[in-house]
Parts: sequence; C-alpha cells; structure tokens
Amino acid sequence: MDKTLGFLTPAFVSVLIFSLNTMLPGRWVTGYINKNNSAEKMKYHLNGIFVFLVLVLIWVMLGGFKIIPFDWLYTYRWFSLAGACTLGIIFSLAVVMPFSTVRKSFLSDLFFGRMENLQLWDGRVDAKMWLYLTGATMLELNALSFAAHHIMLFGYQSSACICLSAVLLTFFVLDYLLFEEVHLYTYDLFAERVGFKLGWGCIVFYPYFYCIFLWSTADLPNPRVHGMLLVIYVFVFLTGWFLSRGANLQKYYFKKNPDRVFLGIKPETITDGNRALLVNGFWGVSRHVNYLGEILMAAGIILCTGYPMLIWPWLYPLYYVLLLFSRQNDDDKRCALKYGELWRIYVKKVPFRIIPFIY
Ligand code: NDP
Repeated sequence: MDKTLGFLTPAFVSVLIFSLNTMLPGRWVTGYINKNNSAEKMKYHLNGIFVFLVLVLIWVMLGGFKIIPFDWLYTYRWFSLAGACTLGIIFSLAVVMPFSTVRKSFLSDLFFGRMENLQLWDGRVDAKMWLYLTGATMLELNALSFAAHHIMLFGYQSSACICLSAVLLTFFVLDYLLFEEVHLYTYDLFAERVGFKLGWGCIVFYPYFYCIFLWSTADLPNPRVHGMLLVIYVFVFLTGWFLSRGANLQKYYFKKNPDRVFLGIKPETITDGNRALLVNGFWGVSRHVNYLGEILMAAGIILCTGYPMLIWPWLYPLYYVLLLFSRQNDDDKRCALKYGELWRIYVKKVPFRIIPFIY
C-alpha cells in the first residue's frame, strides 16, 4: 500500500499544485513574449511562492502530527521516481498529441514539443510556469525528506554539512520563486516548446536529479569538515548566486525600463536605432556570466556536503556545464540571427562567452 502511495505521490503533488496555482490569489503580470501570431504580450498569474509555502506547510504538518514520517519521500524514493517517470511520459503525450505537427518525425515533436505556449483560463495557469513550479516544489519536498532521513538516522551525530547543502538548495529554490517574474524573460520561456524535454524535465529530472547529492550522502555519517572550509564553500555558492541573480536582474530591469539604474550600474548600450544590447555591468564581464554563476552555485552545494571525493554528487554541476555550454552556443546563434551586425559588435566588445579571460 505504501509503495503504491509512493508511486502516486508525484501525481498527487502535481494535481495539488495545479489546484493551488489556479485558486490561490496571485499577481497578474505582463510577460516578455507575444501571444501566438499576435503583437499582444502574454499575461501570467504568478503565485508560485504561496503554492510552495502551502506545500511545505503540509509536509511539516503531516510529519509533525505523525501522519506521514518526515522522511517518507526518502523511504519510497524509488517508487516516487517511477511514478514521476510515468507521469512525465503521460503529460508529454497529452501536451503534444492533440496539436499539429511542427517537425518531420513524431519523435522529435514529442521530444521538443509542438505548442510554444499553453495556457488555461486566459493565463490563470501557464503550462511552462506550472511545470517549473511543480519541479521546484517537488525538489524541495525531496530535499527536506532526504535531510530529515539523515537527521532521523544519526540524531545528535548528524552532519551539519549535509544539512547545510540542503539549506543551500532551499535557498536556490526560494530564490527562483521569489523572482518568478524574471523567469518570464529567459530562454526557457521564449525559445522552448512544451513537450517531453520540458515536461519530463520538470516532472522527473529537476526534482529527482538536482538532489542527487542528497541521494548519495543522506545515509552517510558526519564527514567532520573544518568550519573554515565550509565558509569558503558557502562563499563559492554566494558568489555564484550574485553573478547569476545579478545578471538576470540587470537584464530584466533593462528590458522593462532601459534607463533604470541597477546596483548603481547605469545601463550602457550599443544600439542600431531599433534594438539595444547591454554592454556594461554583468553583461560587460562575459556574454553569459549568469551561466558561470549557476555552475558555481551547484559546485558550492556539492562541496558543502563534505564528501568531495564522491562521484555521484558531481553529476549535478557537470550537468550544468554540459547544458549551459551548449545553450550558450545556441543562444549565440539565435542572437546573431536576431541582432545581426549589432551582435557582432557586442561579441567584439565582450569577447568572453562565459568565463571572463578564459572562455
Ligand atoms: P539569458 O538570461 O542569458 O538570456 C539570453 C537572452 O538574453 C538572449 O537570447 C537575448 O534575448 C538576451 N541578451 C543576451 N545578451 C544581452 C545583452 N547584452 N543585453 C540585453 N539582452 C541580452 O539565458 P537563459 O535564459 O538561458 O538563462 C537565464 C537564467 O536561468 C540563467 O541564470 C541560467 O543560468 C539559468 N538557468 C538555470 C537552469 C537550472 O536548471 N537551474 C537551467 C538553465 C538556465 P533577447 O533576444 O530577448 O534580447
């Protein structure tokens, strides 16, 4: 019975998130991209942070009142993962099959998706934003349960390092949800379609793979890392956050109001009279310093576990390296097409792709 419940948990959580996303009050915001075949901008109803807090509260209450143990998602992790895989496949088929063909083969349509945007009730629920919210919330529930398992197993001997790495992951998730609107201005929203890549990615890969370091360390003893080293690891994480959040916010404010000063940085641009590109601040350091930030955050989290010699946890930052280095190439091509000569001037002015003075 518990195994079946474990299997059904991702479906249950996803439906709950969908219901809360629909019913809880939220902010209506105008997005960055246009509606299909229209000059009108998309509208979104954002309440991710409230939905997230309700889910975490439910987890706390179920554990606190001893209805479901705090580490239940750890105990049934393989069943929950299997349930998420099944849900991810069903979801992908459901959001691809009803729509007209985009590519030559069905399989590539299934993988990349057909519809650029799917919304219900005039934007009250947006498929992409719901997917990211579901992924982030389920990731947090997994992280909390895995960390709880560690604490329940070792009691007073628990590792501050493993708990700290779970706290940093929580920070990462909260940061995304607090700046949910900024996500509307990213590649995920303007360049992806809704299919298996995004659907399975957010229902399975995001919540189960991003906590791989907790899968590998939750039942290991305290590695007893020196406090000074932990300070350095947290510094690596925070430097990454500063680069990533700083760059994303600078661009977001620039797109909304091109004259707005951010962190004392007055926007400097190059323009062809029609369009403009930022060339100073974070966007003057390298063309994607935010990607470097994301990789540093992941590395900081892994170092904090106190098991730097374990291979499995490093798959998380390694995945970022593979994803973001290839995305940088795709984005460069996209921008060269969109901005033409202006992009070539930008590339000359800011020659480094991701890592200043190196790459
Ligand atoms: P960016 O936020 O860097 O967006 C790239 C776009 O920004 C370009 O296509 C272009 O869009 C615009 N742009 C590029 N250069 C300039 C410039 N100099 N001035 C003004 N606009 C510019 O990339 P992503 O959307 O891929 O990433 C957003 C964030 O999400 C990053 O921090 C990334 O690390 C993170 N991320 C996190 C992942 C995770 O799993 N945690 C996965 C993937 C990304 P336009 O044509 O609109 O001008």
